[in-house]
Amino acid sequence: MSVRVRLAPSPTGNLHIGTARTAVFNWLFARNQGGKFILRIEDTDIERSRPEYTQNIIDGLQWLGLDWDEGPFFQSKRLELYKKAIQSLLDKGLAYRCYCTSEELEQMREAQKAKGQAPRYDNRHRNLTPSQQAEFEAEGRQPVIRFKIDDAREIAWNDSVRGRVVWKGNDLGGDMVVARASSGTEVGQPLYNLAVVADDIDMGITHVIRGEDHIANTAKQILLYEAFEAKVPEFAHTPLILNQDGRKLSKRDGVTSISDFQQMGFTAPALANYMSLLGWTPPDSTQEIFSLNEAAKQFSFERVNKAGAKFDWDKLDWLNSQ
Ligand code: GLU
Repeated sequence: MSVRVRLAPSPTGNLHIGTARTAVFNWLFARNQGGKFILRIEDTDIERSRPEYTQNIIDGLQWLGLDWDEGPFFQSKRLELYKKAIQSLLDKGLAYRCYCTSEELEQMREAQKAKGQAPRYDNRHRNLTPSQQAEFEAEGRQPVIRFKIDDAREIAWNDSVRGRVVWKGNDLGGDMVVARASSGTEVGQPLYNLAVVADDIDMGITHVIRGEDHIANTAKQILLYEAFEAKVPEFAHTPLILNQDGRKLSKRDGVTSISDFQQMGFTAPALANYMSLLGWTPPDSTQEIFSLNEAAKQFSFERVNKAGAKFDWDKLDWLNSQ
């Protein structure tokens, strides 16, 4: 099997250090395996996506030396693929139109919270009769499309970093929205989980390597692969990058984008070297200085840590001075 991996950044901000580190691991794995690295820009969120962020992401990856073999592909140009996929779920009876208003959803959640339950969608429009649907249509309600999630399901996979991961269908928040509101006969704007799976299938992705904040999404996505009768790829969830207090590195920590590091005078080789060590340990753990190509020769998921990777300014400064 020839390896195909992808980086799928959302252009809602400058190239973030977390995304760049995910890019590094994807690139190292692809080069180690003689596979292909694909760049896909996830710009379906029209309100938050900006062309200047896309440009910043592309420039940052190029500056770091993370060249890709295919792309960049843009999700905004692939809407037909997603709409067809959603229609096929509707045709198979695996998805349905939900007419709940935001007030109804809010009341549902409040009632659940009052009973000490975790808020979720209670699947109330799963089995509407045609006449109930017609009534909602007549009221002018615009339905979303939800994919059915079986609460009783257990979803398990062997994660290349974390080992066996098990999720309960019950913990996925109820039937999930795959398309935004639109008229009752059309398919609205597709949402993240649906678009990602449609793309990963279409692009023949064999390994999905991304941050561990996507683990619950992976459980949902596996259900979508099954619904599309497609082969489920391997998953590798990389540890988050933490700040000095052990919390996820965030905007509050100041420097978070590759252009910030660039402006501070860090060189691309030092930063790429540092990022490859953020969560990965080479077989010779005393070796600290290497190029991306040298790291690629030695890269494997067995040596990626499960625990979060603390950002260490001293080490980055030291690498930058070599
Ligand atoms: N657009 C998603 C993100 O930036 C991609 C996640 C994924 O790799 O599937 O977090």
